[in-house]
Amino acid sequence: MLITSLEYRIALENITQAMTQMQPDDRCCVLCGDNDHQAWECRTNVLRAALNEKILKKKVARYESALQRIRDLDYSRAAVNMSAVIAVEIAGKALDDKN
Ligand SMILES: [Zn+2]
Repeated sequence: MLITSLEYRIALENITQAMTQMQPDDRCCVLCGDNDHQAWECRTNVLRAALNEKILKKKVARYESALQRIRDLDYSRAAVNMSAVIAVEIAGKALDDKN
């Protein structure tokens, strides 16, 4: 999806405006006007959105890695269980052959 010149200008204006509130200053958010956060936390801050996406991708990667480790663990447990079943069957046959 292409980004238009207008969208770049809007993003640059957003970042430029956000840079006027770099530290807590007891004012409302300079981007949206809300009084419960400031520019670096604002959902309309395009740089914050990009950073949040980067953080989210890292979290998703860690989550997927953890899921894969769990799946691998389950597979190894299944393999151990299957080996135990085979060992019992072999031992049972060996006992049957003796009798
Ligand atoms: Zn805001």
